Amino acid sequence: ARLVVAIDGPSGSGKSSVSKEVARRFDLAYLDTGAMYRAVTWWCLESGVDLTDPQAVTAATETVPLEMGTDPHEERITVAGQNVRTAIRGNRVTDHVSAVSTTIPAREVLVRMQQDIIRDSGYRIVAEGRDITTVVAPDAQVRILLTASEAARMARRGKQVGAAASSDLEARVVGRDAKDSTVVNFTTAQDGVHLLDSSELTMEQTVQGVIDLIIR
Ligand code: C5P
Repeated sequence: ARLVVAIDGPSGSGKSSVSKEVARRFDLAYLDTGAMYRAVTWWCLESGVDLTDPQAVTAATETVPLEMGTDPHEERITVAGQNVRTAIRGNRVTDHVSAVSTTIPAREVLVRMQQDIIRDSGYRIVAEGRDITTVVAPDAQVRILLTASEAARMARRGKQVGAAASSDLEARVVGRDAKDSTVVNFTTAQDGVHLLDSSELTMEQTVQGVIDLIIR
């Protein structure tokens, strides 16, 4: 049977770790849509595309030789045959990703690619991002908005990158969320979307919260 689990939320809400773990436990595919925005950004930087030119960004998104894996046990993402899974997490990509995510026609291309991936999974997938519950898979069997207080999100991100960089990081994350929310609303839950606040929850408790929504 179809089981599409759509999870949206801001950075630091824990959605990637939680989504991946839920996919493993239910034997579902896993799609990290943020990684796709990052991979296109990496490709633009790599191939000298002018990120201030929306038409150039859109053309690059239409032609990017991107291969996206969906195995929750092993992240596989290549551009032009090159493994980019580490490169796309770097500051250079993170600092430029909003150039892609705020270009509406580029979003439309990526949304279509994401819908194809969901279809190819046989509609058995956990997909996470910012617009999955609303745009990419509004008809998903389970739709969740995973939130967390700003303090909790910073603490988690800080652990990921090392505490020294944390005030710089705070500015970066808040700035990125602000830019992101100008094009997609991932701060309030639409009708039929379950709100799950992970601020006071461990990763395991958050996974349980998602599982409860799936099996209810
Ligand atoms: O989730 P992650 O931080 O990797 O996402 C990177 C960026 O990709 C976000 O800051 C956002 O600009 C963009 N994004 C998006 N829509 C999605 C997923 C990510 O706009 N569905």
